[in-house]
Amino acid sequence: MTFDELGLSAELLRAVAEEGYSEPTPVQIQAIPPILAGQDVMAGAQTGTGKTAAFTLPMLQRFKQHANTSVSPARHPVRALIIAPTRELAAQVFESVRTYGKHIPLRAACVYGGVNIDPQMAELRAGVEILVATPGRLLDHVHQRTVNLGQVEILVLDEADRMLDMGFMPDIKRIIALLPAKRQNLMFSATFPDDIKRLADQILKAPVRIQVAKKNTVTELVSHSAFKVDTRNKRELLERLMRERDLRQVLCFTSTKISANRLARELTRDGFACAALHSDKTQQERMQALADFKDGKVQVLVATDIAARGLDIEDLPLVINYELPPNPEDYIHRLGRTGRAGQAGEAISLVSRDEQEALSSIEKLLKAPIPVREAAEPQRGASSDHRRSSPRSGSTPARAEPASISADPTPPRPESMLAAPRAPQRPREQQDAPAALMSKPGSQPVQPARSKRQIAALFLPPVAEKQDN
Ligand code: AMP
Repeated sequence: MTFDELGLSAELLRAVAEEGYSEPTPVQIQAIPPILAGQDVMAGAQTGTGKTAAFTLPMLQRFKQHANTSVSPARHPVRALIIAPTRELAAQVFESVRTYGKHIPLRAACVYGGVNIDPQMAELRAGVEILVATPGRLLDHVHQRTVNLGQVEILVLDEADRMLDMGFMPDIKRIIALLPAKRQNLMFSATFPDDIKRLADQILKAPVRIQVAKKNTVTELVSHSAFKVDTRNKRELLERLMRERDLRQVLCFTSTKISANRLARELTRDGFACAALHSDKTQQERMQALADFKDGKVQVLVATDIAARGLDIEDLPLVINYELPPNPEDYIHRLGRTGRAGQAGEAISLVSRDEQEALSSIEKLLKAPIPVREAAEPQRGASSDHRRSSPRSGSTPARAEPASISADPTPPRPESMLAAPRAPQRPREQQDAPAALMSKPGSQPVQPARSKRQIAALFLPPVAEKQDN
C-alpha cells in the first residue's frame, strides 16, 4: 500500500515524501480512507503508530479547498479542532500539522496554558482553520471571546484516555457543547476504559472502529527487561548503564516530581548533562528541556509520567524506568516513547524491593513476565585480584571501575561487574573493587566465594518467587 493509493493529493504526497515516509503505517491505512469519506472514527492506537498523520493528512486534504490568502478573519474560521491533553502533545501535533500541511496554505495555531495568552489571542483573532488546543486554555479563549467554535467541521480528541485520567472530561463536554451538532468526530485513544466508551457512544456517530495495537500491549519492537536493585543503588546502576553502553540519549522516568528533581540534581553533580521535565516546570522550561534533549545537549531527560504520552523523539533507543509508575498502564505509555514508527527500542526498569507489587501489576496487565535480572551490590572487601582482572580497572587502585552491563537478558558473562555502591563505613576512595555479578533468577552466582547468606543479604529475591521478605 502506498500513500498515493490512499487517495491523498499531490501536496500531501510531497510533504510525506519529504518526511521520508515510504509507506503508510497500519493506522494510516485504516483511518485515512474513512476520514476522507467524512466518517467518524474511533481508533485504538498508541503514540508511535503514526496516528497523528492518520488524522492530519485527510483533514488537510478535506480543507484544501478552503485555503485562501485573504486577510479577513471571516475567511479563516476554525474548521478543525484538535484537543490534546498536554502541552507537549499539543505542540507536537501542531508541528505535524505544519509539516504535513506545508504545501497547503491553511492557517493553523496551537494554544495551551502556561504561556502568555496575548499572542495566542492575536493569532486566533486573525483567523485559523486548524486549531490544536489543550482543554483549559481553549476554554479561556472561549471566555475571552477570541475564538468561535461555531463552524467546526472536524473534532479530534487525541489521547482521549489521558484526558480522562487528567480530569479533563468536564472541560471536554463543555467544549463539545459549543460545537455544531453536525460535524465529523475522530477519537484516538491508547486504551478504552468504560468512561471513554461512554463518551464515544455520546459523540461518535456510527464510527469506523480501528484497533492497531491490542489493548494493553507493548509494541513488539520494544524489548523490555528489569534489574532488581536496592533503591539506594539505583543511581549508580543507572550511571553505569549509561557509561557501559555509551548511552547518549536516555529518557528516564521517575514516579514523582521530587524524585525527578533529586535524580536530575545528582546526575548533574556526577557530570551528566541532565534536565528534569514535570508539571512544576514552567512551559518555557519544559519546551527548553525537550528541545535540548532532542538536540543532544541534554543526555538524560528525567521525566514524570506527564511526559510519558505525546513525546515524540525520533530514534529514541532506550527508556529507563528509574521508578515504576504507580499506575500500571503508564508503564505502557512510557514504553511507547521508544520503538516508534518501526524502530526497535528498549526499556529497562530498575525495580526495588518495595516496587515488586507494582511490577506484578504491570506483568498482570501485560499478561507476560518481564525478564528480570539481579543487580548485585558489590561484595565488601573483594579481592584486588578481581579489580586487576578488570580490563578497564587501569591504575586507579581504589575506585571501582564501571561494570559490563548488557541489556540482553542472556546469562551473565563471568567478567560482568555491576554497581559499586558506597560503603558507608569507609570513604569511597578506600573501597575495594566490587566483586559484583549480574544474573538471571536461578542462574549460578558468578562469585562462588560468596556465601548464600551474603548473597541473600545483597539481593532481592527473584520476582518470580514472590517472596515476602
Ligand atoms: P505518532 O504516532 O503520530 O506520534 O507518530 C510517531 C512517529 O512516526 C512520528 O515521528 C512520525 O514522524 C512517524 N511517522 C508517521 N507516519 C509515518 C510513516 N508512514 N512512516 C514512517 N514514519 C512515520
